[in-house]
Parts: sequence; structure tokens; C-alpha cells
Amino acid sequence: MQKLTGSCHCGNVSVVFETDLSPADMVPRACQCSFCRLHSTAAVSDPAGRLTFSVRDREQLNRYTFGLGSTEFLICRTCGVYAGAFMPDGDDAAFANVMAGVLDARDEITSTPVPVHRSQENLEERRTRRRAMWTPATLVQESR
Ligand SMILES: [Zn+2]
Repeated sequence: MQKLTGSCHCGNVSVVFETDLSPADMVPRACQCSFCRLHSTAAVSDPAGRLTFSVRDREQLNRYTFGLGSTEFLICRTCGVYAGAFMPDGDDAAFANVMAGVLDARDEITSTPVPVHRSQENLEERRTRRRAMWTPATLVQESR
């Protein structure tokens, strides 16, 4: 499996995305929620892959939540980059997506993001969909 790497602008938040998907074949999703509209998001994921976010200084990671509160939007406090959405799921599991622009292969992800509307989902529908569509994920915080 290839390892796609990336990071926020200052390097505090880095990501490794293990996937067999070619960046050229990825079709990013443009979530139409109020948060994602403000960021013009383009999210990619692979249920068969693996995502690892690593944070050097956890004090400089904003794990922003809103709405149903099921998901942490990982934002670097230092440089302001939104890296991805992370949903803890039980004691050890989690699922996440990553913003296409955070990946070093961003220029190879050329498909136009597809708008998706999720506001009608209840919490259980949302969690079920993310378990099926998002990527099994880990958040590693190195300091403190
Ligand atoms: Zn940063």
C-alpha cells in the first residue's frame, strides 16, 4: 500500500494516508455543512486504507466540535490549516477523512469535488455512514 504524506502549513500536524487509491482516481467530497462551506473543503477517504494524524504540540491542535458533537475537526492553532475530520468510535477505534489540499499529492487530485448534503442525518446514521465511507484512523499526540 502506498503512503501519501502531508502536513499543515507550519508542520505541527502531519498525516500519513495509506491507500491503494491513486490520487488521480480520488474524487473529493465537498461537504455542504456550515463549517465545510467556510473552508471550501475537499475531503478524501478510503475505507480500506489507514490514516494517521501526528501532532507535535497538542496545545497547538484545536479539536473543534459543533452540532451533534460526534466529530473533531482538526485545526492547527499555529497556522490555521484544517487538516481533516476525526470521529472517535468506541474505546480504541476512530474514523477520519483528510483534506485533499493537505496531502503532498494535492496537485494529482484533479477531480472536481462532489457536493454532499448530510444535514438530514441523525447521529446514528452519521456514525454508520462514516464507519462505511471514512478511513480507519489514529491520532498520535507527541508532546505533553
Ligand atoms: Zn500548522
